[in-house]
Amino acid sequence: MLSKNPITTSLFDLFKVGPGPSSSHTIGPMKASYNFLHQLNTLPIEIAQKGKQIQIHLYGSLSATGKGHGTDRAIVGGLLGWQPHTCDPKALNGLMKVQEDKYSIVFQGIAILISATSLTYHKGKTDFPHPNTMILQLLDEAGNVLFEGEYYSVGGGFIQQKGQPPEGSTDRQPAYPYSTMEQLKVHLKTNGLALAQLMIQNEQALTGLPEKEILRKIDQIQDFMHKAVKRGIRAKGILPGSIRLQRKAPVLYERAKQHASATDSFLSFMNAYCLAASEENAAGSIVVTAPTSGASGVFPGLTYLMKYHFHYSPQKMRDGMLAAAAIGFLVKHNASISGAEMGCMGEIGTASAMGAAMLTYAAGGSIEAVEAAAEIGIEHHLGMTCDPIGGYVQIPCIERNAMGAAKAYNAYLLAMTVEPGMQKISFDSVIKVMRATGRDMSKKYKETSEAGLALSVTEC
Ligand code: SF4
Repeated sequence: MLSKNPITTSLFDLFKVGPGPSSSHTIGPMKASYNFLHQLNTLPIEIAQKGKQIQIHLYGSLSATGKGHGTDRAIVGGLLGWQPHTCDPKALNGLMKVQEDKYSIVFQGIAILISATSLTYHKGKTDFPHPNTMILQLLDEAGNVLFEGEYYSVGGGFIQQKGQPPEGSTDRQPAYPYSTMEQLKVHLKTNGLALAQLMIQNEQALTGLPEKEILRKIDQIQDFMHKAVKRGIRAKGILPGSIRLQRKAPVLYERAKQHASATDSFLSFMNAYCLAASEENAAGSIVVTAPTSGASGVFPGLTYLMKYHFHYSPQKMRDGMLAAAAIGFLVKHNASISGAEMGCMGEIGTASAMGAAMLTYAAGGSIEAVEAAAEIGIEHHLGMTCDPIGGYVQIPCIERNAMGAAKAYNAYLLAMTVEPGMQKISFDSVIKVMRATGRDMSKKYKETSEAGLALSVTEC
């Protein structure tokens, strides 16, 4: 059964600007600790004044791969009042470098020092509703809990606090409510709307923003993506972490230029662009979740290609982004975009399906062709595990972004060349299969680095 509640997520919650390397382990925790700081600032003063310590407890995948994913520094950043879309990534990367580093957390004129010892990584099984759980506590002198917040980082940088509605919940209703592809198609046919028109009208109804502002923000999102590519194809050196992985994007880019007349050169350029943005993500620089940070190289690779090689108009690019968002919403709403729940099929698989939908719609494909492209994109990532070496979003993540983009391109070609009516599997069906596969997958393959590549390669 797919969800019956209509999708109320905004485009700009799906495509979020923030620091790498992980939306669920970096952006989500920073938002949670920022929210906790805000709540400390609104506590009754007689409780706040008793506060002497802050403790942070990390569970599940946050505990297993949090260090490699920068969860510790993200949490400290949030407690210092930093937010993902405005923080300085260099300053963020400078936090928690050594065990002795201490930071003063200030609320209501009270200052509490925290350090690495304020974080506890709880290993083993938990009964929390989501594998990415964190609990932040304010304690008194004797260690009694004065106030606490339990947060779930549910993927793509979205968070939910225990007892609160999901982030982004709104009383506003979309103009055309849908929770499945079937319902979306009925709206389009009944109202004679193009997919991009429907998406804009829903966004206007949900956010209250005028169309012009929505389009401006979509262009801005693409700019952030392309800035990551431009930085990445120039940046040389070793990525942070014990793997000591060399950046490859600048070399790939130079080789692509040398073979620019080869028939497959666009693929070489696309690989360079995907790696460039992914390496920037791994370095903790600013990227755009699409739908996650781990998968934040797929879209820049494709959109850079569309803009600078295929010369798509700005309007076609925006239309493609809107089609992609529809696909991302459907997966998030009915399965999950979290690697901790779905393995990598939730991240790169969803990004690939979104990319396939974007290419197909921008090229003039029908809604049936968009559905077929997205279905193919998901279908050929079913069961793909998440087993990052050392907990760093590097191997297999960086190359996997290029592979996800290549599959997106091929899914688009397949969908555009075969009569869409011949597609036997619907998008709604493949999402059900994805959800069931994610549930059946061992937790060892869901962003814990307890199996697979994570165990078979020795860090050097
Ligand atoms: S393997 Fe995939 S899901 Fe796991 S951290 Fe890497 S990109 Fe994310």
